[in-house]
Order: sequence, then structure tokens, then C-alpha cells
Amino acid sequence: MSSSSITSGGVGERGVPSKCACGLDVKIFTSKTQENPGRPFFRCVSKRDVNTWTSKRDWVEDAVFEEVQDALPRLSIIANEISKIKAEVNEIDAMARKSEDLYVRLSKRA
Ligand SMILES: [Zn+2]
Repeated sequence: MSSSSITSGGVGERGVPSKCACGLDVKIFTSKTQENPGRPFFRCVSKRDVNTWTSKRDWVEDAVFEEVQDALPRLSIIANEISKIKAEVNEIDAMARKSEDLYVRLSKRA
């Protein structure tokens, strides 16, 4: 699985991890513990990486929740930007129509 352009931290950071701190990919594994049977989590692909294999688990549901939590405020910023740009486009459109009218009037006069 190739990593996406979504801003993501490594294992142990907020959101969906893209790479482990060691540089290797992070994969989804399934918990086989009695407390969390079948629960998916992110972990370094190298099982020899003690840093990620012994530290706390990055549960997929927590990471996805964090990702959504962080993305929502960004979405409203983007929505604001889009409506600003739409207003600008309308202005430019109006200006273009005005100059078109002016051109038509001037060319009729000539
Ligand atoms: Zn690693």
C-alpha cells in the first residue's frame, strides 16, 4: 500500500500513521489479546522493531477519529476559502461582461 499525501504522523503521533519512526511502512494488524480480540491497530511492518512492538498500540479507530477531528476544522476553512473564491470569480465575471458590452458598443460606433 503506497502512502497518501494526507498529513499523517508516525506511530505514536496523532492520526493515521504513514511511516514508522524507523522509516518502514506501517501496516494494520489485528489484536489477538483477550482484552481486545479482533481489534485492528497500526504497527511497524518490522516485527523486530522493538520501539513499536513494545510501546502502546495505535488503534485504527482512535487514529481515524483523530484524523477526522483534525480534518473537520480544516474543512470549514476550505469551505470559507471556496465561497471567497466564488465571490471573486463572480466579480471577475461581471467585469468581463461589462468590458464585453463596452467593446460591442464601441465597435458599433466605429
Ligand atoms: Zn519501525
